[in-house]
Amino acid sequence: MISYHSTRDPKRQGTSLSAAISVGIAPDGGLYVPERLPELSRADFMDRRSLERIGERLLAPFFDGDALAPALPAIVSEAFSFPAPVVDVLPMRRSGWLGVLELFHGPTAAFKDFGARFLAAALSASPPREKKRTILVATSGDTGSAVAAAFHRRPGFEVVIFYPAGMVSERQEKQLTCWDGNVRTFSVRGDFDACQRLVKEAFLDRGLSSALQLSSANSINIGRLFPQVVYYAKASLECFERTGKKPSFIVPTGNLGNGLACIWAKAMGLPIEEIVLAQNRNRPVVDLFERGSFQPRPTLQTLASAMDVGNPSNLERLQHMFPKLDELATSVSAVSVDDATIERTIAEEHARSGQVLCPHTATAAEAYKQLPLERRGRPWIWVATAHPAKFPTVVEPLIGRPVPVPSSLAKLLALPSRAELLDPKLDALKRALLPSA
Ligand SMILES: *Cc1c(COP(=O)(O)O)cnc(C)c1O
Repeated sequence: MISYHSTRDPKRQGTSLSAAISVGIAPDGGLYVPERLPELSRADFMDRRSLERIGERLLAPFFDGDALAPALPAIVSEAFSFPAPVVDVLPMRRSGWLGVLELFHGPTAAFKDFGARFLAAALSASPPREKKRTILVATSGDTGSAVAAAFHRRPGFEVVIFYPAGMVSERQEKQLTCWDGNVRTFSVRGDFDACQRLVKEAFLDRGLSSALQLSSANSINIGRLFPQVVYYAKASLECFERTGKKPSFIVPTGNLGNGLACIWAKAMGLPIEEIVLAQNRNRPVVDLFERGSFQPRPTLQTLASAMDVGNPSNLERLQHMFPKLDELATSVSAVSVDDATIERTIAEEHARSGQVLCPHTATAAEAYKQLPLERRGRPWIWVATAHPAKFPTVVEPLIGRPVPVPSSLAKLLALPSRAELLDPKLDALKRALLPSA
């Protein structure tokens, strides 16, 4: 049985998985981490090919002994109800192979759908509560809509979304504001870090936290990470089977949840060679590698807006896992890509291969191009984190044609919008959420 403790607790006092998922953030303000990662080998996945079956095996040790363990098959089947295919970009040849792991086939067309649906299923499977729970979520664009979609009209849950006013794409904003019923959306006068801070403050406020039974759906919630490890497992096992070599992944990175999941997958023994974290001009991870320490910086607005994070919360999990940076640096590296290069990459990749990339995925494509030739002689997989149709104002002028909108996304875009403006202050939030305050 694996127990979970806060990154800030030197005594590493254990909590159960269901308790960690249920509260989201640890009472001391830290993030929950497992006391150890299970070790698995390729043999554990014999005859398991679907995300669902791989997920059941991979996550069993994390759930073992917990009240949620019997619900794991149902949770994975809800989380993995759409595919995560690896599509060839460059055909296999002696000089390596390049594929793209498409994580945008869910209801809101970004990889956040996996984590949000897994979390919603896990919280629904937890013992019912007397009071409704309120899920708070700060979003730089895609988390909020994925969480709203996953919890919309789910009995026993209210969802409150905070997004930075004017800093998400028009289509992202539509997806954040198209909900009714149990979902409330605030447009915050501030950046993503201000939204994230507001959520953290709300949790640490006893009155608010107990009146509303708060729970977090940000990647501070460990429940978001599990399903992400599963798609790296599937993609790496498949690639190993096809090529006989371990693939390396390039992960567009903001709050570092998706990248951390890939690092976990490698640490658990899955066939993964290198991991490159691709950032936009917000470059906290690049800084960490270059300087050996990390300084939070103000968030810069970029075209890859879902990665506009100056102070990624999962850095705390990463540094806890690798107190010595050198150990991490043997297999993980980071690059930063500016907006002009993002634009050029989208245009060039479309002209070269016909692939249409979202601005986030473009950072991964550029990071691949920057690899020295000898490293490119192995299999590589870019991670495509969102569908390009979410960012038409960026992508369409660059490729000179409209991007067809997936039908699930089109349905959401047709709904009416509603959002409330909010100052990034705890007392403003309290007034909005607790009418008697
Ligand atoms: C959230 C997001 C990212 C960054 O993922 P993290 O887990 O926060 O590092 C990248 N691309 C898209 C499209 C996203 O929505």
